[in-house]
Amino acid sequence: MRNHFPYDAIMISTDVQLNISAVGRRIRAAEDAAGRPTGSVSLLAVSKTKPPDLVREAYNSGLTAFGENYAQEMAEKARDLADLPLSWHFIGPIQSNKTTIIAEVSDWVHSVDRLKIARRLSEQRPPEKGPLNILLQVKTSDEDSKSGVLPEALPELIGAIAELPHLMLRGLMTIPAPTRDTMLQRQPFRVLRETLLPLQQAQPGLDTLSMGMSGDLEAAITEGATLVRVGTDIFGARYN
Ligand SMILES: *Cc1c(COP(=O)(O)O)cnc(C)c1O
Repeated sequence: MRNHFPYDAIMISTDVQLNISAVGRRIRAAEDAAGRPTGSVSLLAVSKTKPPDLVREAYNSGLTAFGENYAQEMAEKARDLADLPLSWHFIGPIQSNKTTIIAEVSDWVHSVDRLKIARRLSEQRPPEKGPLNILLQVKTSDEDSKSGVLPEALPELIGAIAELPHLMLRGLMTIPAPTRDTMLQRQPFRVLRETLLPLQQAQPGLDTLSMGMSGDLEAAITEGATLVRVGTDIFGARYN
């Protein structure tokens, strides 16, 4: 099991502010190239393994949404940074014994892929915090052996989730197998967009496509991402 402390010990100097400007330019350029309005894609800064000070620096450069993969690490960072108006997105695999923390701390959860987890998140969401925004993680490529629901299983899962009072389903998320080939990168992102379209007809509140990371955000934006999750290109490489 991963020890969430200490944070990355090797602190190669990263200019978070410069990195954020560069990523912002890439996003604007990709929006433009795809003929999409400026500002239609939001940036989630993935701060997993990085210390709270770097999150603070990113906040000072204008970012307010942060993504974490480990429940305990997210909770501790959220506590350290409670003086800032941040939103926390849980994007990692969800173990059922971690749902209490996730339901209490997160504003969004991107990685819901089974009903059991959705039920626990709804039951454990403190009602005064309002409904928890969730995305369903979808398997869009065969090579992707990780978590995720198959597109054909979505309608049933969505129907069951609609009954859960403390969750608000907002859309879909995917983590395709990495490739440097930009045409290949687009394929799973296109699958995710085409999977969301018919679902949106029935539920217009499904407004979010969480797809694209440091290495493939342009391809994701071309295919309709509304949110990209960027770690390395903002905070530098991860070492643990
Ligand atoms: C780590 C992680 C990211 C960020 O990846 P980078 O390649 O560092 O930008 C995005 N999404 C998820 C689900 C992750 O686990």
